Amino acid sequence: MNFADLGLSPDLLKAVADAGYTEPTPIQAQAIPPVLMMKDIIGIAQTGTGKTASFVLPMIDVMASGRRRALMPRSLILAPTRELAAQVAENFEKYGKNHDLKLALLIGGVQMGDQVKALNEGVDVLIATPGRLMDLFERGKILLNGCELLVIDEADRMLDMGFIPDIEFICDKLPESRQTMLFSATMPPPIEKLAKKFLKNPKRIEVSRAATTNKDITAFKIPVQQRQKRETLRWLLRHDQVETAIIFANRKTTVRELNKSLQSHGFASGEIHGDMDQSSRIKELDRFKSGDINILVASDVAARGLDIKGVSHVFNFDTPWHPDDYVHRIGRTGRAGAKGRAFTLVAGDDAEAIANVEKLTKSEIPVFGKKDVRVELVEPDSKSKAKTDRGGSGKNSEPRKAADKAKPEKRAKKADQSEKPAKSKAPRPKADHAAEDAGEWNGPVPGFLDVSAC
Ligand code: ADP
Ligand code: MG
Repeated sequence: MNFADLGLSPDLLKAVADAGYTEPTPIQAQAIPPVLMMKDIIGIAQTGTGKTASFVLPMIDVMASGRRRALMPRSLILAPTRELAAQVAENFEKYGKNHDLKLALLIGGVQMGDQVKALNEGVDVLIATPGRLMDLFERGKILLNGCELLVIDEADRMLDMGFIPDIEFICDKLPESRQTMLFSATMPPPIEKLAKKFLKNPKRIEVSRAATTNKDITAFKIPVQQRQKRETLRWLLRHDQVETAIIFANRKTTVRELNKSLQSHGFASGEIHGDMDQSSRIKELDRFKSGDINILVASDVAARGLDIKGVSHVFNFDTPWHPDDYVHRIGRTGRAGAKGRAFTLVAGDDAEAIANVEKLTKSEIPVFGKKDVRVELVEPDSKSKAKTDRGGSGKNSEPRKAADKAKPEKRAKKADQSEKPAKSKAPRPKADHAAEDAGEWNGPVPGFLDVSAC
């Protein structure tokens, strides 16, 4: 399948070639022709499958003819977050460079004055987050009855973020004769309902899940107690040859606290979460890319819009609530050639969430055990090193603060003494670990591993 077979204009094909794309992804191949034929579509495909271009490309051709009018955008794309909206706009700029299309981006955190000015001059494509659009609509700064085309992107995210009532409100303001497209990674019932209400006889395009777990990624789960999570994480960071890692947590507060805790233990870590503005997120990402820090603690929403791929490790400090997010998270490791490692710490509610992941991926994630310890596999002659907790070769093998150095050794020694042979089924860690951050670990390190044997 070739882009040229899809019915796109020569100008557009040229921009696509300049972008370096040689062939359409499956969702693009299936969505582009019906969009060009002005059909309503529902596009369901996992994150990272190229859904953006599957509507941006045909839209550029569809919007190529027609005239702009003040206050009345000709098309509207709704995206759940500022980052995603900005990414869609970038796509329009990249592929639309040979076309004369006016874009406007209506997102929070940007001066409203400029946005209103752009609307007054007339736009072909309005890309907006629901909140800001509603705001301007209610102030009478925008009219939606000239909108011939509507895209609801990342619909399942919209649902997560509580935007469905806003979307319904907005849909009701658009002309009935419009073309509507809805894209989503999953179709939970409220999204099905939304599609039924606002799409007309849509063509449903469902791209089967890509091999959900890439074979270059080795994934493990680790049953722990909630209060052992940080200790376990630090142990892994120091022992598993971590070069670069993203640590995902489900809540913003966890992201912040975990980052602080890691820094206090001498790790070179940073954070991105939804409370940070876009420029601080990009700044933090740049520090990560430049190697200034090698660990990034992130929330799903903050990480979603950012291009972070090819890390050596992904850690799920919490199991994501949506099993799709698991696939998306661990997909950030597993670089070409190099094997990526993904660890999920499972405590309390995580157990149910990880069971859902296993159901979705149709495979059981193995429990991390002695035989999986990297230091043993990669450094066969490092027995003594392992005992002193210095096995890893990554940046963090040596904690940066001198005061921290004593702690792991103390723990490791204790481990050596108290270690029992590993049971065949991964044993649950012992529960008697008081005050982990005080450095007191009464059981083996890290609880479930027979490190003395490494
Ligand atoms: P989704 O919305 O499905 O999560 P995106 O549209 O954000 O996915 O695309 C994911 C990545 O794939 C982007 O980096 C994009 O540049 C790239 N991509 C999209 N289409 C193609 C293609 N045809 N060939 C190669 N890369 C592509
Ligand atoms: Mg997308």
